[in-house]
Order: sequence, then structure tokens, then C-alpha cells
Amino acid sequence: MFSPTDTIVAIATPGGRGGIGVVRISGPRAAAVARELLTAGTSLPPRYATHTFARTARRIDEVVATYFPAPHSYTTEDVVEISAHGSPVLLREIVAAAIAAGARLAEPGEFTFRAFLNGRLDLVQAEAVGDLINAVTPLQARVAFDQLEGTLTGAIGALDARLFDLVTRLEASLDFPEEGYHFIEPAEVAGALTGVRDGIDALLGSARVGRMIREGRQIAIVGRPNVGKSTLFNRLVGADRAIVTAAPGTTRDLLRETIDFDGVQLSLVDTAGIRNVDDEAEREGVARAHGARGVADLVVVMLDASRPLEEDDRDLLASTRSTPRVVVANKIDLPRAWIAIDGGERAIDVSVKSGAGLEDMRAAMRRALEIEAPPSDEPLVTNLRHETLLRAARESVDRARCAIGEAGETLCEELVLADLSAARHAFEHVVGRRTSDDVLRAIFERFCIGK
Ligand code: GDP
Repeated sequence: MFSPTDTIVAIATPGGRGGIGVVRISGPRAAAVARELLTAGTSLPPRYATHTFARTARRIDEVVATYFPAPHSYTTEDVVEISAHGSPVLLREIVAAAIAAGARLAEPGEFTFRAFLNGRLDLVQAEAVGDLINAVTPLQARVAFDQLEGTLTGAIGALDARLFDLVTRLEASLDFPEEGYHFIEPAEVAGALTGVRDGIDALLGSARVGRMIREGRQIAIVGRPNVGKSTLFNRLVGADRAIVTAAPGTTRDLLRETIDFDGVQLSLVDTAGIRNVDDEAEREGVARAHGARGVADLVVVMLDASRPLEEDDRDLLASTRSTPRVVVANKIDLPRAWIAIDGGERAIDVSVKSGAGLEDMRAAMRRALEIEAPPSDEPLVTNLRHETLLRAARESVDRARCAIGEAGETLCEELVLADLSAARHAFEHVVGRRTSDDVLRAIFERFCIGK
């Protein structure tokens, strides 16, 4: 997909101004291109920060350049990194000079793609680079870094090694087909397959929490006008670190803010008052509120404890019945107008104003989202692509296991081998040893230029 023999260049630091900005050059001509860019006579000893000057027709900046000869670099190719002052115009000038000296502009993700292509990172780790860069909560960053360090790769490798051992012994049995003689006893194959299946199950068992951490979750706060939704929204945003500044719409629009809720990236949506209305514009706001509720992973249904329940409240309770939800009765600092909801469902008593009951509400939200204790150092599946392939591997292992029978009474090597080969293929797709160009393109296109 990308030509891997070119020498590529890009600004590696984010757009905008900063103390320093880094231009990265990678490929067989990296050192030659860098020499053109730097003051005459600059020699770049490997892996030393060399103080020098970037130049075009004349000196344009004072820089620090570092040369990482192959294979000890990010891409495993010759790499030169030039740290200049972090000015977009200046950095663009340096990139243009590198292009004039024979480099070409890198495609999005191309540095990481080369690291993958050259075997320094597998696909799981390359994806982890993207996740690490995109992390918005410290927990997301930690989980991505674990993956970059190879925890998941290692776990999959260990399972694959067990399958490989079985495959070689089953093949030996096929190669020496003396009557009734197996290089491996059926019961041993069955036991090993059960072990591998349990190993895959343990990984799959982590996928719900893992994906929640990587993807984040959406919460909608719904209720009649004036029950206190915006007040709660502001409370939550104030108590948790707001990650992205809200882009407020009109009062009838949705207000969205992303917060770090116990490490989980929560996208919080404050919906317009949900009630039956005639007004055209308000109807649009209500439609959006219903839309947000439809995609939310959790709905906080807010009622007003100081005013009698209305038809709209009951409609809302009925229409959110099948959605994971937390029902709160707000304004308990005022005299109560009702105690229980019809049907006996418990609402959590809160006063957003005084803060009473908010800890109970947060605990209920944690329970509803199934945010358990932060994950330990066990490998975590965080990515739907990995999860889908692991499910396929599990099915194949299971098929092989079933073919042998409960107590290992029948062993048809050919059948078992076919299933094991399918399982190993799925593993190879996860780590990128067999991944199609289309999938690779889709993965690396999500990166920005310079990564
Ligand atoms: P929304 O229309 O549902 O977003 O409601 P708001 O958050 O704008 O709140 C409506 C009114 O209720 C405001 O005057 C709030 O100050 C008030 N309010 C919100 N929470 C409480 C509470 O716990 N107790 C009392 N007494 N008033 C509250």
C-alpha cells in the first residue's frame, strides 16, 4: 500500500506552536537528506543529540538532530529526528527542504506502518500506538501502553504455541499411520484443547471492560423540564475532570461533555426537556433527546420529588424500561410530593443542590455500567477486531475439542488439524501476520501524518 523503499518525512509533533517541534525522517536516505538540511560539516554520531543549524539558502533555525541508524530506530530504518523551535511555518520549511533533498511526505501512520512491516511491532502493538496517542483518560493510556508492551500479543503467542505443539504431534501421527498408533493420546489432545479454550475465554472475558475503557460510554440525562438535569450535568462535569470543552448549542439542543468517570471516558449528554410538545422547534429538541437516549449506554432518568409525578414522567419511565438506567428523585431538600414510583421501582433520592445522595447515584451508575475495580495487569482485549477474531479462534478450538468426544474416545487427526489451522489463522490475523491490505489500510488511515 505504501512504498516502503522511499525516504519519508513529516512533522511528528501536533499542529500549533510549542517550545519544540520535531521533524522525523525515515528511510535509506535519511542521513543524506538530513545532511542537506543541516549546516555544512555537521556529522551526526549515532544516537547523540547534536546541536546544529537547519538551513535552506541560509540558516533558518538552531536545532538538535539525532540520528538513529537502522535497525535501532522507531521504524527499524535509518531515522533522523530534528528538534526545532515549535513554529508551524518553520517546521513546514524544514519539511519542504527535506522533500527538495529527496524525501517524500509521509502518509498518515506511515512511520508506525513501517515499524509493523519491518517486524518491530505487531499489528496489536501498532494499534496500541494509535490508542495511546488518542487516550483521554489515564486508564486508557495505561491499558494502551500495556498492549504496546505486548501483554496481549504475549498471551496470544502462548496460546498459539500450545496449538503449534499439538499440530506438530498430530501431523507426526498422520505421517506414521501405523494401525492405532498416535504420537499423542486423544485424551491429551482433548485436555490441551480445553486449556487453550479456557485461555481464549479468559481473554474474551476481559473484552467487555476492555472495550468500555478503550471506547468510552455514553450517558444521557433525561427528564421533564426543570427537574434539575442541567444542574446535575454541571455537577458531574465539575466533580470529574472534564476532558473536552462542551460545544453548547441552544437551550433546546443537546449539551455534551466528556468526563473521566473512574478512568472510563464518559460522554455525558444533557437532553432537552422530554415532554409532549406542539412547538416545532421544541419538538426537534425532544426528538434529539430521544435519539441520544436511544444510543446511550446508560440513561439517568430524573424526576422531581417536590412536585407530583406527571404523565410525562410515567411515559419516560415506561419508554426507558428496557434501557440500562438509573432513576433519581431530585430536590429532596424540598418538601416531598411523593414517596414511591408506581410499580415499586426504587428511585435514588438526591438533592443535586445540596449534594445529598449523589454518592449513591454514582455507585448506581458504576453498577449499571458494570465498572468494576480497575483491571489488574492481566491482558485485556480492548478492540472489537481482536474480540471478533478471538471468538472465531474459540469456535475452531471448540469444534476440534468436540470432534474428539467427551472422554477423548475418537481422534481423527485430519479433522482436528483443519480446525486447529483455522484457529491459528485467526490468531495470525489478530497480530497481523495474515492481515489483508484493506484491513491494514483501514487501521493505519486512522493515524495522523507524522505517526
Ligand atoms: P433542567 O431543565 O432539568 O435542566 O433543570 P435545571 O437544572 O435547569 O434546574 C431547574 C431548577 O431547579 C433550577 O432553578 C435549579 O436551581 C433547581 N434545582 C436543581 N436541582 C435542585 C435541587 O436539588 N434542589 C432544589 N431545591 N432545586 C434544584
